[in-house]
Amino acid sequence: FLGIVGNQIGMATYVVGGFVRDLLLGRKNYDIDIVVEGDARYFAQTFGRYFEVTCVEHKEFLTTSIFFKNGLRIDVATARTEYYEEPAVLPNVEMSTIKKDLYRRDFSINAMAIKLNQEEFGLLLDFFGCKRDLEKGVIRTLYPLSFVEDPTRILRAIRFEQRFNFRIEEHTLELLKKYVAQNYLERVTGQRLRDELEKIIEEPEPIKAIKRMDELGVLNHLFPHSLVDAETLSMLKRYFNRKRSSSPKPVYILAMILLRESSPEKLDSIVKRYGFPKKFPDWIRKAMSISRELKKIIVKGEQLSYRIFFETVRKPEPEILWFIDAFLDEENSKKFQNYLQKLEKEKPKITGSILIDKFGLKEGKEIKKILDKLQLAKLEGLPDDEE
Ligand code: ATP
Repeated sequence: FLGIVGNQIGMATYVVGGFVRDLLLGRKNYDIDIVVEGDARYFAQTFGRYFEVTCVEHKEFLTTSIFFKNGLRIDVATARTEYYEEPAVLPNVEMSTIKKDLYRRDFSINAMAIKLNQEEFGLLLDFFGCKRDLEKGVIRTLYPLSFVEDPTRILRAIRFEQRFNFRIEEHTLELLKKYVAQNYLERVTGQRLRDELEKIIEEPEPIKAIKRMDELGVLNHLFPHSLVDAETLSMLKRYFNRKRSSSPKPVYILAMILLRESSPEKLDSIVKRYGFPKKFPDWIRKAMSISRELKKIIVKGEQLSYRIFFETVRKPEPEILWFIDAFLDEENSKKFQNYLQKLEKEKPKITGSILIDKFGLKEGKEIKKILDKLQLAKLEGLPDDEE
């Protein structure tokens, strides 16, 4: 129907990018990006006459999003050329043809279009050997300055390479390494890098991409002095395997694990760069000190128990809890999760005010000591009537 609307208003209409790539690969993709050679807003409005949809315009990018009631979304963009007044900042955009629109895209595998207009419905537009690259499993930029104009493509290249088990083409890889070494990632805003990192974390196998980022020197430009050793990898593996909906922002946990040995000054600059919470260095400090304590106990061959968790961990912020959990093997992680659940559920019936009113206790420290003892007894299975 998109093509019919295109015909009705005399606009060449194409589905482009990731949708076409995934269609050719036989993979599911419900992100539909449409490009029209004409006014995207007018296209969306005309489309809206036939369906109950809401259109939202993003003027500066010449795009309009069409939202259906069932949650489906179609993005319509005016075919455009981008020109960069400075490298690594967002470009200016100008109306153009589909060929130029495809040329400004990140990699050849993402630079194909399929025509939707009735007379040529289904025609594949492949101006730059894109289909061949897709068949060969190659990630290739379309022009030499691609990484300079948008260094976030460095992260995108790695993400697609690892997702599809492709390889970054030789010349593209040379350029990637060159611009990484010339600090082009440092020119991008922390927020844009964070967005790309979050997309990497959402991949089914983020560790593969993280290892590749390390191998290509990218990680050290994102998080200087990050530590990637066997412990880092096993912590990340555990975290990504166990990550549940209750996890705080995964990018915080990733950075905490990578930067766990960094000095407070270095952490401060990371906080500024990525807009992390001010408490971030403090989370690492606390998480590390608890982990070190637990490690000592494990090394001694002792079992981790509710008592040990209660004495060393208590109940800090979720970021710290997730870090500690990643630090623990499967068996201890289960114990730890049980401990946290119990800590939440099983509170002693006796409260501070009962101790004051009924038992005449006055001193805060003493009250706290008694409440702690009661809570621990409860964790270890003391029935209510024995309190
Ligand atoms: P995914 O499957 O991860 O959603 P995608 O290819 O759909 O992959 P998007 O980030 O949704 O990725 O981008 C849609 C399309 O826009 C891409 O296929 C690509 O053609 C283009 N694109 C996105 N980001 C860039 C970029 N930084 N530089 C150039 N082109 C880009």
